[in-house]
Amino acid sequence: MTKIIDGKRISAEIKDELREQAMKFKERGIEATLAVVQVGLDPASSIYVRNKKKACEYVGIRSLSYELAEETTEEELLSLIEKLNKDNAVSGILVQLPLPAHICEKHILDAISPAKDVDCFHPENVGKMCLGEPGFLPCTPAGVVELLKREGIEIAGKECVVIGRSNIVGKPASMMMLRENATVTIAHSRTKDLREVTKRADILIVAVGKPLMIDDSYVKEGAVVIDVGIHRNAENKVCGDVDYDKVAPKCSAITPVPGGVGPMTIAMLMRNCLSTIIDK
Ligand code: NDP
Repeated sequence: MTKIIDGKRISAEIKDELREQAMKFKERGIEATLAVVQVGLDPASSIYVRNKKKACEYVGIRSLSYELAEETTEEELLSLIEKLNKDNAVSGILVQLPLPAHICEKHILDAISPAKDVDCFHPENVGKMCLGEPGFLPCTPAGVVELLKREGIEIAGKECVVIGRSNIVGKPASMMMLRENATVTIAHSRTKDLREVTKRADILIVAVGKPLMIDDSYVKEGAVVIDVGIHRNAENKVCGDVDYDKVAPKCSAITPVPGGVGPMTIAMLMRNCLSTIIDK
């Protein structure tokens, strides 16, 4: 029987645990505050921002909204970041991506104080994660590892293949699986004979960004498959990078889309936000 890994239930459990911690801090007069910055009105970004603010409200994290016009210049955005960095009442800063094309994302992400970088995009925090030092963890990869752990899936010693090497998902996911003592292979668009590589995986993490690309021909019998992809198909239904109907019967455990990794990303963001006060 294939186990369906319920990210919605696990993320709800995590948010409840965080809510309890937040309540205890509030009793001592300490509250986390997340500044959420959005530039322009990209509809998908607006949904993500709304969901993040809703999660903050549930957990007991104050959120401040900065909704800036599409025409906002890089200098204007940098000066807002500078102001938020200096504001002691703000413990975390999140700039929703993507930014309009005239703004350099790297300039903005590098300007966020590493101590307030709850997305864990700043090079200093990425470096700490790679070195295994304490600090923020990138939300989506941390969500993947947390799902595996909470489902009791052993990682140490397992063959893990990650498809994708983006800075946001593939690379940090590989690094975090290595930290958990998996034997990790990273596949990408230049990988030769992808199927031959992915069929070695006990744990296959798919972050390829191509709707339904991974079918059963890429998967070893009994593997655990984690689908990070999020897309909308022709009928406007949400789907992943994995062809769930074909793959599910072949594996021992799989994440659905929606309801798998997606909700975990927000739960891990909440964990990072709360850590800005817990670590103090
Ligand atoms: P990117 O497009 O940045 O990266 C895709 C990666 O897949 C690249 O490394 C690319 O290789 C590789 N790739 C592309 N085509 C192939 C192929 N045919 N064979 C092998 N490798 C290939 O995507 P992201 O990492 O940002 O996101 C991946 C998916 O995860 C997307 O569907 C995205 O929407 C989703 N996502 C979900 C989140 C969540 O909360 N659940 C959060 C973030 C993303 P190369 O480097 O060589 O170009």
